[in-house]
Amino acid sequence: MYVSMKEMLKKANENNYAVMAINCFNLETVRAVIAAAEFEKAPIIVNIVEDHLLRHCDSGLIAPVVKMLGERANIEVALNFDHGTEYGHLTEAIINGFSSVMVDASRYDLGGNIALTKRVVTFAKQYNASVEGEIGCIGANADGSSTQYTMYSDPKEAKIFADETEVDALAISFGSSHGNYPDGIIPKFDFQRLKAIKDLTKMPLVLHGGSGSGEENILKAVEFGINKINVGCDFLNACTKSTKDQLKENPDINYFELIHKVEEDSIEKVRYYIRLSGSKDQSI
Ligand SMILES: [Zn+2]
Repeated sequence: MYVSMKEMLKKANENNYAVMAINCFNLETVRAVIAAAEFEKAPIIVNIVEDHLLRHCDSGLIAPVVKMLGERANIEVALNFDHGTEYGHLTEAIINGFSSVMVDASRYDLGGNIALTKRVVTFAKQYNASVEGEIGCIGANADGSSTQYTMYSDPKEAKIFADETEVDALAISFGSSHGNYPDGIIPKFDFQRLKAIKDLTKMPLVLHGGSGSGEENILKAVEFGINKINVGCDFLNACTKSTKDQLKENPDINYFELIHKVEEDSIEKVRYYIRLSGSKDQSI
């Protein structure tokens, strides 16, 4: 079924597990992610970033596809606009059928962040769409995939932000980064900060940059109150690996066979993260 993130994250919060949100950008990636969730009987979030919507597959094109795949699935599927920075893009995605959006207004001060996020929450209510906000700023690794700076979330500001905006979920910064970590580097998470934010807000919290965080960090983050984990790089890296392996074995492979097999191979990585997040068998 096709749903918003609101109920699935509320349930995850009550039962202390996290739902996976995987970055997709086309039919094949969406199908792989939903298939993985069906195998594991888990709720799932299809995440699409602004850049991919603008450059590859706009919201009017992709939302009906994900909605139909979600309705055909026997698990809950939400479609979330990941890191939407512009009011116009966010509202357009909601009108076109996105069930959820994440407002990235972390470039503003607290007042500016609250103002833009609140506007989107008000708009989203008319469509029963859920909204994720961001407090602090999640960093980026120096692999060219992002240029954001890091600013750890302040627990008191998180509480003010949550109360003022009435968002359904809150992305926080406590040590993770977007992009691929350099080889051998595992990030250090500030779990006391995460705990302090959870104690104050008691709401669904979101870990961005889940790729490469390491099993121990992810398990502990879920234990301390993370209810949604974003993974982009590790999923797309699995797609790249499958492509490379196939081309190595057969450089003249038929394009259809290549893409079809990439989709099949990438399912395993999503299943791995679903099991790690604790959302296996949590679909109603
Ligand atoms: Zn993110």
